[in-house]
Amino acid sequence: MDDMDSRKAPRGVRDILPVESWKWAYVLNTAAGVMTHFGYSEIHLPVFEHTELFTRGVGDATDIVEKEMYTFTDRGGRSLTLRPEATAGMVRASLEHGLCGDLSRGQNGKLWCWGPMFRYERPQKGRYRQFFQIDVECLGLPSPVADVEVIALSAEMFRRLGLKNLEVVVNSVGCPKCRPQYREALISHFTSRKEGLCETCLGRLERNPLRVLDCKKPECSAIANDAPAVYGRLCEECAGHFEEVKAGLTRLNFPYRLDKRLVRGLDYYTKTAYEILSGDLGAQNAVCGGGRYDNLSESIGGPPMAGVGFAAGIDRIVMVMEQQGVSFGEKPRPQVYVVAQDGAGSCPEARNAAQVLTHRLRTKGIAAEQDGGDASHAARSFKAQMKSAGSVGATWACIIGPEELEKKLITVKNLQTGEQAPVPFEDVESHLA
Ligand code: ATP
Ligand code: MG
Repeated sequence: MDDMDSRKAPRGVRDILPVESWKWAYVLNTAAGVMTHFGYSEIHLPVFEHTELFTRGVGDATDIVEKEMYTFTDRGGRSLTLRPEATAGMVRASLEHGLCGDLSRGQNGKLWCWGPMFRYERPQKGRYRQFFQIDVECLGLPSPVADVEVIALSAEMFRRLGLKNLEVVVNSVGCPKCRPQYREALISHFTSRKEGLCETCLGRLERNPLRVLDCKKPECSAIANDAPAVYGRLCEECAGHFEEVKAGLTRLNFPYRLDKRLVRGLDYYTKTAYEILSGDLGAQNAVCGGGRYDNLSESIGGPPMAGVGFAAGIDRIVMVMEQQGVSFGEKPRPQVYVVAQDGAGSCPEARNAAQVLTHRLRTKGIAAEQDGGDASHAARSFKAQMKSAGSVGATWACIIGPEELEKKLITVKNLQTGEQAPVPFEDVESHLA
């Protein structure tokens, strides 16, 4: 317990401060636009679920379930877990509310959500214990058209955001029909080179040899590179599906790389697996990962239901955009700064009028700030207020002093050109174009 300091956030958890939060809003707004264009509806899911949903829906042989979950018992004695990912919750919600395929209720099983996920990981750059994902799931559609749509959606989101240097990597993990043969081929390959594998992979060898393909340790990596590929071992259905996915990506002009080591090691993951990697993220290089999971619904006790989707890490997206100097659009700023020239306290009416005008502009949809309303101290000098107007990036200063009060005027100053003009108090808005 190295971090028991109640003045600090727990290890691996951070505040997204105003200097960054407006960038997040830009990313989410852009994503929301893409979702609309691809026909996905937003859903808000709970951040905790029954623990069993994840042990069954993520899989108890995964790192997430074995080592990374925040699990607790509530006051009613239930075992609950802070969601480590969103897919299981999406499938749960879809089953619970009969969302999938119920077009009469405006539901087509195409859903997206965003929010915090929780994993007890070793915190480092691009890896946190509370992090945020945009999650997209297309439920009920077994066709490869859905796989291509989901991959295309993620790529379009990154295109609109302006991310550069991305690579789409795809693979197939087969299905429970053809995977057993592939498993055997892997077990025999890894057994023949057993001495070179790390402790963890030795443990996985019989139980889950696909996970060895995924190991990042250099010694295992070399052995995994020589492992047999799944291609040629897929059943007819999976092979056909994979060909269609690749053909679809080509048709839509998405270059991709095949990677035989890209896997999701569990039985309910089927067919397509993919990731989008950034050349600018170092070790934590995946901005997005996804694939098909046609057997997940049954594994949590539901009826058969196909599904394909992805999750993209918002923390990492923002990080890459910052690193690449990509624009986040315009930072929100006040359009107007209202300045009270109160002659060192001799004209409190000027301050009152400034308060009234600021509120009036705001209610008309004009972003306005005033002395004492920003981070500064109230009742500052005229000069200090004009300086604030500049530093917050306002386009206009509206100045009210004793003279303006008397004539029922406001001096409107364009802070870019320096031009200024007296304007009737009631007409200020029309001069702010
Ligand atoms: P990684 O290989 O980086 O651990 P993963 O395979 O565990 O990723 P997924 O479960 O597929 O990741 O999650 C999808 C995306 O969520 C990742 O591509 C990444 O952008 C983001 N992500 C996952 N774990 C974290 C984390 N601890 N902190 C920040 N972002 C994360
Ligand atoms: Mg991980």
